Amino acid sequence: MTGQRFAELHLDHVRRAFGDTLALKGMDLTIKGGEFVALLGPSGCGKSTALNCLAGLLPLTGGRITLDSRRIDDLPPEKRGFGMVFQNYALFPHMSVRRNIGFGLSMRKTPKAELTRRVDEAVRLVQLEEHQHKFPAQLSGGQQQRVAIARAIVLEPPLVLMDEPLSNLDAALRLEMRTEIRRLHQSLGLTTVYVTHDQEEALALADRLVVLRLGEVQQVGSPEEVYAHPVNRYVAGFMGYRNMIPVTVTAQDDERATVRADGVELVGVKREELADHAVAAVRPEDFAVVTEAGENTLDATVEIVEYHGREQAVEARLRDGTQLHVRTNSRLAPGDAIRLKVPVERVLVFS
Ligand code: ATP
Repeated sequence: MTGQRFAELHLDHVRRAFGDTLALKGMDLTIKGGEFVALLGPSGCGKSTALNCLAGLLPLTGGRITLDSRRIDDLPPEKRGFGMVFQNYALFPHMSVRRNIGFGLSMRKTPKAELTRRVDEAVRLVQLEEHQHKFPAQLSGGQQQRVAIARAIVLEPPLVLMDEPLSNLDAALRLEMRTEIRRLHQSLGLTTVYVTHDQEEALALADRLVVLRLGEVQQVGSPEEVYAHPVNRYVAGFMGYRNMIPVTVTAQDDERATVRADGVELVGVKREELADHAVAAVRPEDFAVVTEAGENTLDATVEIVEYHGREQAVEARLRDGTQLHVRTNSRLAPGDAIRLKVPVERVLVFS
């Protein structure tokens, strides 16, 4: 089973307005055949709007979408023939798993033998052999989502669009289905656009991430690039830099800077785009709790401790009132005075 491959899908300055709200403000993006692209961002950033524009469910307010240079934004959804998987699976309750999966093929008047063969293969790919004669109400959420995925891939669409397909599942099932989706993509290579607000999900699944904010693309890159080199404070916040410590810049060269945070000099932080007043972005797991005073060390007081098994999630406060999130396997308690070694080589400074 392989989709009809295209070389490139282009979104060219795609805009979509709802009344006065510009949900997409001129989105440019190229998707290559076979890629798994994740659209990532918080609620309201325009991810679903982008997906629905691709699907043909929403007309564009401006711009164009082309598939191998052929314009498609004026085609209705059925003429685009993309597969869709949404968070509510929308299965037909009165049809068995097999009939749900084969429905699209029978609508296309696929010959019986071929339909049977393709449904067999799709059932096997999503590991539903045991459940293929059941009805949706007899299935778990994860199994229903597998049916929805099988129903999309059985049509071998050129593009599969997924909108938060795992958000109705519990945490364990979400992880299991995430691996399943990755496995399916590895074996079938179907070009996929996947919408999520979950950075971990996006990092785990995608070949390329597109981070959106208020209808604008902030950064496009591989998971490694976006994770290690977020281009601005917003993307950094999304990539796990939960601490944004206010700092003033006291010295800088082309690559490194010295900044002052809570009266302490942090020497050798990475500079991205600098103004005098900036924030130092630090991941909670990057602080080290130390006993000795020393270079690049901040004093803080522990306020809240959550036990997470191997480590603790700690909220602490600097003397200037800045709140910090710290993950550590040191055992701490509220009220403890602690020293935090700042990993300057992993700190990013943004204006
Ligand atoms: P979520 O994760 O909550 O679905 P999202 O990133 O997918 O969010 P969109 O649903 O694309 O965001 O919405 C983008 C913006 O467009 C939001 O400001 C939203 O309020 C607005 N919007 C979306 N659909 C409509 C609509 N049918 N009518 C009016 N405004 C809309």
